[in-house]
Amino acid sequence: MSEAKDSITIVGGGLGGLTAALALARRNFVVRVLEGAPEFGAIGYGIQFGPNVFHVFERLGIADAVLEHADAPPGVIMVDALDGHEATRVATGRPLFRERFKYPYIVIHRVDLHRVLLDACARSDLIDLIPDAMVTGFAEERDRIVVRTEDGRSFTGTALIGADGVRSRIRAQMFDDGELHAIGYVSHRTIVPMAELTADVNRDDVVLWAGPGFHIVHYPLRHGALFNIVAVFRIASYGERVDAERWRADLQHTYRDAHPTMKALLAMLDLQRRWTLGVREPVRVWHKGRAVLLGDAAHPTLQTLAQGACMAIEDGLCVAEFMHLAGGDFERAFRQFERARSLRTARVTLESNAIWDMYHADGVAREVYWQSFGERSEEDVYQCLAWLYDGFRFPGETSAAADPARGVGA
Ligand SMILES: Cc1cc2nc3c(=O)[nH]c(=O)nc-3n(C[C@H](O)[C@H](O)[C@H](O)COP(=O)(O)OP(=O)(O)OC[C@H]3O[C@@H](n4cnc5c(N)ncnc54)[C@H](O)[C@@H]3O)c2cc1C
Repeated sequence: MSEAKDSITIVGGGLGGLTAALALARRNFVVRVLEGAPEFGAIGYGIQFGPNVFHVFERLGIADAVLEHADAPPGVIMVDALDGHEATRVATGRPLFRERFKYPYIVIHRVDLHRVLLDACARSDLIDLIPDAMVTGFAEERDRIVVRTEDGRSFTGTALIGADGVRSRIRAQMFDDGELHAIGYVSHRTIVPMAELTADVNRDDVVLWAGPGFHIVHYPLRHGALFNIVAVFRIASYGERVDAERWRADLQHTYRDAHPTMKALLAMLDLQRRWTLGVREPVRVWHKGRAVLLGDAAHPTLQTLAQGACMAIEDGLCVAEFMHLAGGDFERAFRQFERARSLRTARVTLESNAIWDMYHADGVAREVYWQSFGERSEEDVYQCLAWLYDGFRFPGETSAAADPARGVGA
């Protein structure tokens, strides 16, 4: 093995941070990942991945391990939450989908995916995973960067990657551009054993029930052992803490006219914990000196396209490749990284915002959207998703076309 290169500090051991760590170690960088939580791990719910993410997993040698834990649903379906009719479908299980996009559409338990990444990191001598290290800030000193933690420790490296999520402290120090703008919606996540699921509900597909001011997504996990539900509601009191039982009664009242399956799903929700959803305008610059952001810290997105984690994972490989090619000039690497990634990630953010409005529309707008969905053929749907699902062209990959939405080969 050739001599190890510079030592890189990554703040945040989520999906983006761990992918960057693996990709950097593969290029012989020494990496230290600082995670604020007492242990590395994920929140225990499901996640969906488009086929584009497999271009990264293949290159990192973890595609088979991911597939072992994943399920490939036959379809991703959008259903009208008021009358239950199917508005549109992406036939993800069809051979045509695999022929078109090369890899499957999957659903997987976040804990399982995190474990695959952590095991791969643990196999590398170049990666040091440090839990219980809540970072408070950093200082750049000529040719190095020093990161400080809440308990007074400091860690020195030649460059810093802030992969610390939507409430990134690294971003706050770099740009001081405030919090996410709340959009007035909250989200709840619930997971139940499939054996305990009594509702008469589709257990095979990813199903999205779209209604005025709310939606519910559900799908199976762990080869049918679990059932994952994400529910999103528009509410005036989104920032307040609420009593779960009072909130349940409010929901039952508000959605009294919803389809019976919707009501059965509502009854199953775990309402103890809720996530307030917010957005940021996309920006083109994610670095300052030797520090750069990736994933949610750089470009948070609503979950409508189910691509936030996919983008964080693509970022992780992409930034590592540019750092490898830059011969120690990290500022150049970070500028190239921004140029390569900013339009693709901004498109995810902006399209997610637009689809969010469609899902939750009411009245005439709702009917118009539904009508236009109904006019699309399977081929039209694949075509709409091609810019995303065809994957990103990573630095060094040979291709003449410079399509900013899909990346630019270096
Ligand atoms: C309801 C919901 C459903 C979603 N569904 C999907 C989906 O189906 N598909 C998809 O692709 N995306 C989905 N997303 C988006 C996805 O969860 C995020 O985009 C993704 O987790 C971002 O990864 P990340 O590594 O950038 O940040 P995170 O996953 O947030 O990781 C950040 C890490 O940094 C740590 N950290 C934070 N601050 C500090 C600090 N100061 N010091 C040290 N460590 C710190 C955190 O503990 C955490 O481990 C969904 C999001 C929501 C809210």
